[in-house]
Amino acid sequence: MSSTDLTRRTAAETAAAIAAREVSAVEVAQAHLDRIAAVDDRVHAFLHVDAEGALAQAARVDAGELSGPLAGVPLALKDVLCQEGIPTTVGSKILEGWRPPYDATVTARLKAAGVVLLGKTNMDEFAMGSSTEHSAYGPTHNPWDLDRIPGGSGGGSAAAVAAYEAPLAIGTDTGGSIRQPASVTGTVGVKPTYGGVSRYGLVAFSSSLDQAGPCARTVLDAALLHAVIAGHDPADSTSIPLPVPPVVEAAQKRDITGLRIGVVKELAGEGYEAGVEARFAEAVELLTALGATVTEVSCPHFGYALPAYYLIAPSEASSNLARFDSVRFGLRVGDDGVHSLEEVMSLTREQGFGPEVKRRIMLGTYALSSGYYDAYYGQAQKVRTLITQDFTRAFEQVDVLVSPASPGVAFRLGEKLGDPLAMYRQDLATIPSNLYGGPAMSLPCGLSDGLPVGLQIMAPTMRDDLLYQVGGAFEAALPAPVPSLSWES
Ligand code: GLN
Repeated sequence: MSSTDLTRRTAAETAAAIAAREVSAVEVAQAHLDRIAAVDDRVHAFLHVDAEGALAQAARVDAGELSGPLAGVPLALKDVLCQEGIPTTVGSKILEGWRPPYDATVTARLKAAGVVLLGKTNMDEFAMGSSTEHSAYGPTHNPWDLDRIPGGSGGGSAAAVAAYEAPLAIGTDTGGSIRQPASVTGTVGVKPTYGGVSRYGLVAFSSSLDQAGPCARTVLDAALLHAVIAGHDPADSTSIPLPVPPVVEAAQKRDITGLRIGVVKELAGEGYEAGVEARFAEAVELLTALGATVTEVSCPHFGYALPAYYLIAPSEASSNLARFDSVRFGLRVGDDGVHSLEEVMSLTREQGFGPEVKRRIMLGTYALSSGYYDAYYGQAQKVRTLITQDFTRAFEQVDVLVSPASPGVAFRLGEKLGDPLAMYRQDLATIPSNLYGGPAMSLPCGLSDGLPVGLQIMAPTMRDDLLYQVGGAFEAALPAPVPSLSWES
């Protein structure tokens, strides 16, 4: 079998072939490393490739030291998760040269499951953005059209999966950073229930919203990865001490007869591209044809989700990012015996952070400042409660909610860089689930102007299995579109 064929397989197929000894884990790892070497100069999905570590882990799988449903399957890790001894930059200059002395819980679970970590993927600096253009290391390109953005902040993870550089990737989603990249690259991305996957070792952006989750080319692959990384972790105080929902079984059910699906009235209309609305309307018809009962549901406060998020997330970020003080991690500027400690700190932060990160720190510091706290941060927290109540009421009527995942298809690189609000609006439909804490998935539902459109499914907290049940049935009826990758020839 040629190495191209090995990179085109799903994670489930690869794991089965390795377990049956039809192919070795080392061959699979090498095929993906070759693929990265062949295309990543144009895609730029990776910030760091760990060929040696990947081949060593694959050899352990081949030696029978590690086993499990994903043993030997290669994976791309978003550069916001710590991996011992491997550079972790979070897309920022301020962490340049930092090598974590420990593994994030997600990383440790992947290693223990025999997953082969290929390297760290590009991202918007500190996960702030929707295009990966805010990375301090240059943008990632969308494999569907290299002149377009791969979404963000986890554009590197989504692009790696779409370009066959890895069958699996890990992303993190604070306001949409797994789902929007999945939507615009034609891949499957899942934000698990908040507290479902440990945040230990995930460099914090907004601690009450951040959640790591799977990126894959199929619903089943995403479920297999979800099952490996999820589950209670005493090292994260917000981790939920309950069993992991049966995501793998749900992905294989392929039956949604009688399931009640709600179309969110407020996640349509202004701000959504016509092509996206058309594909979404067809997706709703297909769900009905598959036997679900589809009704319209109103979530009246969803329109306030975006402004509430842009107070809560920057507030938490301004506090979390205070730890980058030139002393503890990475970059240190002006430490020459002439500058004072205070000057070293401010020079380091001035040179280490990019403009979007500075904008968020200023927004957050302002929202938290005395005299403004109640009017901004306090008010946003009340809106968060109202949005949670919208979800609670909606889930009394229906089992899951659906909407477009992203209001548009992949836009051109540079198109929205000068307009932060246009960039922020990418997350119109994804942010409500983060504020509520429930799980949500984006999966492909066809093309508009030759570019992928994503269907979003939202479920109640700890019912991640429902996403996979609906997603699995939908995908079986409407397989994901395949990119032509015409730039390769
Ligand atoms: N695009 C959103 C932001 O810029 C969400 C980012 C994320 O989910 N990490 O904040």
